[in-house]
Amino acid sequence: MKWRIWLLSFGITILSVLIFGVVSTQIYYKSSISDSKEFLRVYMNAFDDDISLDEEGAKAFSEKLNGARVTILDAQGNVLGDSEAAGLENHAGREEIKAAILNGEGFAVRSSSTLGKNMVYYCKNFDGFLVRIAVFTDSSWTIFVSTLPGFLQFAGIMVILCIVFAFLSTHLILSPVKGIAKAAAAGGEVNSKYTELAPIADILNERNRNIARQMDEIKAEKELVERAQNSKDEFISNVTHEMNTPLTSIRGYAELLDAGGMTERQKAVAYSTILTQSERLSSLISCIINYSKLDSDDLPAYEVDFSALAREMICALKPEADKRNITIIEHIDDNVIIMSRHERLTEIFGNLVRNAIKYNKDGGSVTITLNFRGLKVEDTGIGIAEENMGKVFSRFFTVDKSHGGKNGGFGLGLAVAKKICQKSGWKIGVTSALGVGSAFTVEF
Ligand code: ADP
Repeated sequence: MKWRIWLLSFGITILSVLIFGVVSTQIYYKSSISDSKEFLRVYMNAFDDDISLDEEGAKAFSEKLNGARVTILDAQGNVLGDSEAAGLENHAGREEIKAAILNGEGFAVRSSSTLGKNMVYYCKNFDGFLVRIAVFTDSSWTIFVSTLPGFLQFAGIMVILCIVFAFLSTHLILSPVKGIAKAAAAGGEVNSKYTELAPIADILNERNRNIARQMDEIKAEKELVERAQNSKDEFISNVTHEMNTPLTSIRGYAELLDAGGMTERQKAVAYSTILTQSERLSSLISCIINYSKLDSDDLPAYEVDFSALAREMICALKPEADKRNITIIEHIDDNVIIMSRHERLTEIFGNLVRNAIKYNKDGGSVTITLNFRGLKVEDTGIGIAEENMGKVFSRFFTVDKSHGGKNGGFGLGLAVAKKICQKSGWKIGVTSALGVGSAFTVEF
């Protein structure tokens, strides 16, 4: 880039000097010719009647004019006398003579065939005879050659100036460009006080913004992937943990049975435990499959009569509540039609109501409110401690960690309900007071 600017400036300078040389030579040449013509006209005024119309007269007039060539001709162009040469042929064909015969005076510039030099001729018609005066003049080439040393000096100075100018201009042009490139590489906002560079600055700023946006997107994607990986790892570890408990139990009792020597009563306990734990294991597996299936559940939604579904489910769950003397209070509006799927609403409603019964006190109550705004399941149960409120919707979270405990859940019910709500664009939440009861809400 620097070299190109230098070469270009150098080339332009040399070309300019050459053009200047040629043009100024031409101007000088034309001006000297025009000056010569004027002089010749003035010289001609010095011609008077005393001068004889022959070679003598021509020489005398030439002397008077400090040696200018003088030619005296008759009206037909025949040379009567010439100050420089003798015995010249008829000159009627010469340009200046022709013009003088026709118009009274004539000029011409050419190389003299008689003297072999470049001359300016002026011829005047004195009614009856013609007088021609000629002076030497330089040709434009001679002028050029004579001024060449001066031009070369001028060219030398110009080249030096051009080098200085090229150096300064490359520095002046390139340093703001370099500045912009540096600012762009640093990733900051690129600004230039030069309006010519503003479009480049704008492009670089736009590009930097795009890069920053893409970097943010990549970062966000990376975080998502990491989170998904962590969540997957955590899920696998939870599943393994949950499976381990029944498997250890089954294996333990199976080994005891295999070893023999157990009483009939002990054997009965072993068989019963193996059966219960197997059932728990298969129930855990179906819960996990059910939860995992939700991720790929993209089946289309359709209108579901949630009112009818809720009433059916309450009938099915009532025996469970009755066992513990729990009253179910219904505030269910008619025709609550929801865009969803039957199985999704069954999961949400079933999990919330089953929990409200499961984590209730004997003789307590469950109040179910359903309208077009949402679903609310309130209970008068054990409630949830403040610190656990945010965790109840997490996978495998249970307050009672001994999974063989009274309620024995896997901690997947609310996670399933939350996932369905998220996918449907609904909001699920909980309010609770320990020992008083909880209220789970779903806002459609
Ligand atoms: P599970 O009931 O199978 O353990 P859930 O995901 O349904 O799993 O519930 C997670 C945990 O949240 C439960 O173990 C329980 O500790 C708490 N929980 C859920 N519903 C209630 C409720 N209505 N009252 C008190 N605690 C509840």
